[in-house]
Amino acid sequence: MNLQDYLNEAESIEREGGVALTAAPDIDALEQARIAFLGDRQGRVKALQEALRGISKEDKPAAGKRFNEARTRLEALLAERKTALSRAVAGASGEDLTLPARRQWLGAKHPVTLVIEEIEGIFRELGFSIAQGPEAESDWYNFGALNFPPNHPALDAHDTLYLEGEGLLRTHTSPVQVRTLQRYEPPIRVLIPGNVYRRDFFDASHAPMFAQIEGLCVDEGISFVDLKSTLNQFAERFFGAAKTRFRPSFFPFTEPSAEMDVQCGICGGTGCAACKGTGWIEILGSGMVHPNVLEAAGVDSEKYTGWAFGMGPGRIAISRYGIPDIRILYDSDVRFLERIAQPTGGATT
Ligand SMILES: [Zn+2]
Repeated sequence: MNLQDYLNEAESIEREGGVALTAAPDIDALEQARIAFLGDRQGRVKALQEALRGISKEDKPAAGKRFNEARTRLEALLAERKTALSRAVAGASGEDLTLPARRQWLGAKHPVTLVIEEIEGIFRELGFSIAQGPEAESDWYNFGALNFPPNHPALDAHDTLYLEGEGLLRTHTSPVQVRTLQRYEPPIRVLIPGNVYRRDFFDASHAPMFAQIEGLCVDEGISFVDLKSTLNQFAERFFGAAKTRFRPSFFPFTEPSAEMDVQCGICGGTGCAACKGTGWIEILGSGMVHPNVLEAAGVDSEKYTGWAFGMGPGRIAISRYGIPDIRILYDSDVRFLERIAQPTGGATT
């Protein structure tokens, strides 16, 4: 090889090696470039060194000088790029960013919210829409319009949280029935989720505030058959192929009234701890809307009839998720919420 060819070869190795090393996007690519140019066995710098042997004696100093320049330059670029890439990997504060990310808890929907949303989903498909109303109510909406006699024990200050001046914190979501009936002409099919307040102690099975969800259906020719078939369909969808039973009950705002039970899904009706040995779990109260309620809201009770039901999604969440103490629902304890939340609730970042 003559000197000029050697110098040209040195030039192109330095240039191409420089590009390969400087542009390496990560440590692996840098190592590939190092092997290609500075590798001990088949690196092009090594080959250039070996080519020195074929250079004539008088040209050797010039060729050797150029060889050294090229090798030094590429070694410097390799060291520089290596430092830059490892600094990027380590991050500014020195932690190793190549470590797998720790799972981060991003939060999830509360079990009671999950239950409410599932109930809403079923009733939406049955043609119901969602209605809401204020939590601070008047006596009339909370009791009077719902056919509570003025001396009913629920009106007592021992049971109800009265606000200073006028009004109270609603003790059930039923005032929204009245508000809906006042506002819209039948046919009406609404589902009413919301928080309600009672003057209860906060213990394993009571809370002064809890969620309730109720439904109202008013139209011409609505009968108890509609109530039973709709609620049976709901129970089948929500609890699986569960048997139900209706027991006579009493509420001021419905007549007749009935409690609905579903057969215990744990023991299949033979009796267990979850159903307190009865084989049945009480899930809701229901009944035909009392004519006085329709009339109070300005609806003609001769023309229209309706049915309503109410249930506690908290109690359903408790039985569904095996929660031993109602207070857990109010604790915001991440260990508990994380266990119940859907797997999609968490994510890595
Ligand atoms: Zn049971």
